[in-house]
Amino acid sequence: MTKKHSVLLKEEKCEGCTNCVKGCPTKAIRVHQGKAWIKEDLCVDCAECIRVCEYHAKYSNSDLLEEILSHDYPVLLIPPSFYSQFSADISSDKIKAALYKLGFKKVYDVAEAAAALSRRSLEFLNQNSANYISSSCPVIVRLIKSQYPDLIEMLLPMKSPVELIAEKVKNELKNENNIAASLFFLTPCPAKMTTVNRAIGQEKSFLDGAIAVDKLYQEIYPLLGEITEDDIKESDKIPLSIAWGNHGG
Ligand code: SF4
Ligand code: SF4
Repeated sequence: MTKKHSVLLKEEKCEGCTNCVKGCPTKAIRVHQGKAWIKEDLCVDCAECIRVCEYHAKYSNSDLLEEILSHDYPVLLIPPSFYSQFSADISSDKIKAALYKLGFKKVYDVAEAAAALSRRSLEFLNQNSANYISSSCPVIVRLIKSQYPDLIEMLLPMKSPVELIAEKVKNELKNENNIAASLFFLTPCPAKMTTVNRAIGQEKSFLDGAIAVDKLYQEIYPLLGEITEDDIKESDKIPLSIAWGNHGG
């Protein structure tokens, strides 16, 4: 399986209808002998071709939970959007406790890094009067690099929130507890899956892998009913910075 991109084709399902060709913003798809092939050098992993394919022939790559949990010290980084996949009567603390029950040694909220990054970006913008484009979304960064290189200098010179927290967590666990943790991102988007193998703006990602939200959702949903107040550790309560994921937060 290619490590270069996470949006892939299930060849046997493709009908060659060309819907994805029309929808691709970078003209990365060619239909050859009735099948839609992605030109790797042009794809930015935006997932638009997954959305428009009526035959479900395009899919997003993901690490498998069993493989992740086979690591000695698997750590999960959660995006704020994950909590909103559940009904309002299931608390965020309960969801986090279920992730521990599943086998993760530590669970961290990416929202903490996102809030810190927002503050840092604001400081930077106050000191620099030019116009800038956020560099948090890997699709936007790749799109600019491949299609609009003149805009590269406008990208904010900052890491993405997930890389920021991955670096902090990995170093803290190593330096303070002598733990060689394996870090995995619970990703809501294929482009972030790709950044694990093709880091942007740094030689290597601090992440060891990524798992798609739907893969984990199915696993923890049945566990939620078993979670009691005793399972919820004070130190793992949801931080206030989770509000960063709300409108205007
Ligand atoms: S939209 Fe789906 S079925 Fe149609 S060409 Fe693209 S991958 Fe194949
Ligand atoms: S993921 Fe986006 S850029 Fe890549 S082939 Fe699909 S539509 Fe095109």
